[in-house]
Amino acid sequence: MKFNPAKAIHDLKQFGEFGDVNPSITDSSTYTFLNGKTMEETFLGHAEGCFLYSRHWNPSNKYLAVALAAMESTESAWITASGMAAITCALLQLCNSGDHIITSVTTYGGTYAFLKNWLPKYNIEVSFVNITNLEEVKNAVKPNTKVIYTESVTNPLLQVSNIPELAIIAYEAGAKLMVDNTFTPMIFTPAMLGADLVVYSMTKFINGKNDCVAGAICGSAQFVDQLSNVNNGTAMLLGPVLDPLRSSSILKNLNTLHIRMKQHSKNAQYLAENFEKMGLKIIYPGLPGHPQFELHRTMMNKEYGFGGMLAIDFGTMENAYVVMQKMQAADVGYLAVSLGYFKTLFSCSGHSTSSEIPVEVQKEIGLSEGLVRFSVGLDNDIEETLETIKGCL
Ligand code: PLP
Repeated sequence: MKFNPAKAIHDLKQFGEFGDVNPSITDSSTYTFLNGKTMEETFLGHAEGCFLYSRHWNPSNKYLAVALAAMESTESAWITASGMAAITCALLQLCNSGDHIITSVTTYGGTYAFLKNWLPKYNIEVSFVNITNLEEVKNAVKPNTKVIYTESVTNPLLQVSNIPELAIIAYEAGAKLMVDNTFTPMIFTPAMLGADLVVYSMTKFINGKNDCVAGAICGSAQFVDQLSNVNNGTAMLLGPVLDPLRSSSILKNLNTLHIRMKQHSKNAQYLAENFEKMGLKIIYPGLPGHPQFELHRTMMNKEYGFGGMLAIDFGTMENAYVVMQKMQAADVGYLAVSLGYFKTLFSCSGHSTSSEIPVEVQKEIGLSEGLVRFSVGLDNDIEETLETIKGCL
């Protein structure tokens, strides 16, 4: 998969004496018109190339959306102020009261909480399944199923979703397959594998700098039109617009994503293989012993590897805390949530980003209290990092 953001936005850019190499950042919430008729048409979404008001569309977010749609091979994309905004706006656009969603039980804790605690208030029913068990997914389908929701590689257990098979189940059910690809940009292109919608927390690998929170929804032009409809679009009416200053900086970082993903994967693969040899209880999709190693291999864009995320089960929370504190003191990385950063980040998932999942459910799905999730950084000397980690164990 060869993706070049600068090429994707080439046709939108100005060249010549005022042709800045980075697209200018829009510094306006509202835009002028030469006549009232064009304003009316723009408001209704019928005037291509015009901007009315920055919550609707603005040039900076448009550049980033065009680049992301090119990366995901979707017709269109919409930029949001967080990953949660992308997930919630897309789900609420697809579902009405009385509808049903099937979701992987292992998802990011915030997504789990939204599906478990929030949607039932609006009479949207949610079934939680083991997404790697396709029979269980099929059996969960109901006449009112509108969405099958999963993460391409789930947070934090790193299960790999069979996107082509899930797409078939969704299609046969008359539902949409929505995939959160936050852990694996460029590694997987879910829309090419059959997903209808791809959502991102761009806070993570896509931006890669941990300096802002942002999200994206990639899908058909028709769906993006629905999201941005002034009368009933969730993105329009709930209003989670990303500030143009931030979207322009994410666009610049998108140009290095391919290099970063290769290095994250290379470092994580090296650590995972060595952790396995050391006898640690390691989960990494790039190890042949991982239950979905073959599936990952068949779906991936080969040159980007198996991703920067791995997890080690240290048995107890106390052990996990001691190791993480030692690793931070030795400058292996930071004891911090989030992922996709140039430094390695580690956190104890059951007690942080998955703590919304009740303890009994954590036990059921095999999320050990001592599970530490690592987002492996871009270290230039990963051999040295491994030696430092060994000294912390
Ligand atoms: N999806 C995944 C897989 C995540 O890990 C996260 C956050 O950690 C989110 C979505 C939510 O993203 P944000 O924090 O940008 O709202």
